[in-house]
Amino acid sequence: MARRKKIYEGKAKALYEGPEPGTLVQYFKDDATAFNAEKKSVIEGKGVLNNRLSEFFMTGLSNIGIPTHFIKRLNMREQLIRQCEIIPLEVIVRNFAAGSMAKRLGLEEGVQLPRPIIEFSYKDDALGDPLVPEEYIIAFGWASQQELDDVIALGLRVNDYLSGVMYGVGIKLIDFKIEIGRIWEGDFMRLVVADEISPDSCRLWDVESGKKLDKDVFRHDIGSLTDAYSEVAHRLGVLPSNGKIDANITQIN
Ligand code: UDP
Repeated sequence: MARRKKIYEGKAKALYEGPEPGTLVQYFKDDATAFNAEKKSVIEGKGVLNNRLSEFFMTGLSNIGIPTHFIKRLNMREQLIRQCEIIPLEVIVRNFAAGSMAKRLGLEEGVQLPRPIIEFSYKDDALGDPLVPEEYIIAFGWASQQELDDVIALGLRVNDYLSGVMYGVGIKLIDFKIEIGRIWEGDFMRLVVADEISPDSCRLWDVESGKKLDKDVFRHDIGSLTDAYSEVAHRLGVLPSNGKIDANITQIN
C-alpha cells in the first residue's frame, strides 16, 4: 500500500496528507523528549494513550462550543484533523506555580496563583521557545491584537473546561500548553484549538497525594510514564478500568 505523503515530523507527532483537501492525518509517536530535546526516549504505548486522551479533550471542548481542529480518531495512533495555519506561539495557562515559572520567580511548586495566568513562548526550537511579551507578538506580526485577545479568551475557556473535568476525577490542573490555529472559510478566519491536549502538555497532580501524572514523570525519572498516563485515561473513562493498551496495534475501530 502506498504510504501517504508526510507533511511534517515533530518530536512527538507526524502529519500526513489527509484524504480530502483541508484535512491532515495526525500520527502520535511513542517518542518522548524534554528539556528542549536534550533528554529523549521511546516510551511504548505513549502515542496510543495521547491519541485517545487528545480525542477525549478535543471532543469535550467542541461539545461546549470551543472550536478545535479535531475531526475524528481514525485508529490507535492516528486522528483526522482540519489543516490550519498554526500561530507560532505556545500558549501557556497556569493555575499553580510549577516548572519554569516557579524557577523564575523562586516560588514553591504547587503554590496557587492569584488568578489563572497566561504567557506566551515563541515557537522556535533553535532558540528554545523563548518566553515573549505580548508587545513582541504584535510588533513582529505573529498575531494581531484582535487575535491575541481571542487567544487569551480561548485559553481561559479551555482552562475552565480542563480544570473542571480534571477536578471531577481527583486531578489538579497545575498548568498546560495549547497551540492555536487559523482556519480560513472564504474571507472569514476563525481560531481553533490545534495540536494536542494530553499529559505531555499539561501538569496534572493527584488532588489527594500530589502524585504527578504527567510528563514530569519522564522529565525527572520518577516512575513509569505509561502507568501515569493510563491512570489519567482510566479515571476519565477513556480506557476501561482494567483495560491495557496494546501499543503494537495500529488499526482498531
Ligand atoms: N509545555 C509544553 N511544551 C513546551 C513547554 C511547555 O507542553 O515546549 C507545557 C508543560 O508541560 C507545562 C506547561 O507547558 O504543562 C508549562 O511549562 P513550563 O513553562 O513550566 O516549562 P517546563 O518546566 O516544562 O520547561
